Amino acid sequence: MKKVIVLLALMLSTAVVAEDKVQVISTELAPHLYMIKGAGGNMAAVVGPEGALVVDSQYEHMAPQIKAELESKQAGVQIKTLINTHFHGDHVNGNAALASGAQIIAHTNVLTRLKADSKFPVAGLPTETFVGEKALHLNGVNLKLVTMPVSHTDGDLVVWFKDANVLHTGDLFFADRFPFIDLKSGGSVTGYINNVKLLLSQIDDKTKLIPGHGDLMDKAGLQRFLTMMEQTLAEVNALKAQGKTEDQIVAQGLSAQWKSWSWNFITEERWIRTLFKA
Ligand SMILES: [Zn+2]
Repeated sequence: MKKVIVLLALMLSTAVVAEDKVQVISTELAPHLYMIKGAGGNMAAVVGPEGALVVDSQYEHMAPQIKAELESKQAGVQIKTLINTHFHGDHVNGNAALASGAQIIAHTNVLTRLKADSKFPVAGLPTETFVGEKALHLNGVNLKLVTMPVSHTDGDLVVWFKDANVLHTGDLFFADRFPFIDLKSGGSVTGYINNVKLLLSQIDDKTKLIPGHGDLMDKAGLQRFLTMMEQTLAEVNALKAQGKTEDQIVAQGLSAQWKSWSWNFITEERWIRTLFKA
């Protein structure tokens, strides 16, 4: 019994250490414009003498590290504006800790969904919502927020930094891994694929893409992602046309070339089950 307790204590302490080890790392993409990686969805930040603007907020426990990273660029900087790309916890759970009292901007449906969650802190709720386009400007950086037709959820937006040729896609892009498409929150497989196609038509070979998850990407990476979705959807549809059930397709699996896209959250099985509902 004692051994079990010691082992449990050891496991718990390793888990805590592992969490503490998550480093917040920023990469400068243009003057005053950064990509910030940590735990949860990737962030973008505009930091300078006029203050800071961040896109998404990761988790509550990450807020001190994120603030320290912003202050390393500009001493004493305050977050003036936070933009949420959608309502998922790994993008909004740091809202209150990071940006309480600041302007928080999101798609109208984000506020509806977060308000329906009684555990979500009021101080982290969007203060300004819209559908369509919205222009912002800070520290010489121009931003354009554009809400997207239903795809990852029913409240997605992307953030363009046109002068710097940078796009934050939110979760419309999972770099080199199967995407999560939240069908229970108004998401749509065909809507998702259409939005990725639309974004591809709006960028060039020099565009820097901040995906919701994964490393900084370029157009070729987004094209690779689209090809994977189109071809795996075609595979599932072909098997469906042969009369195979969802479970039979899961048992058979996708062709071997897609194995590396599977990850702990969206495994091949989960991706097939998503595609089956398309
Ligand atoms: Zn998401």
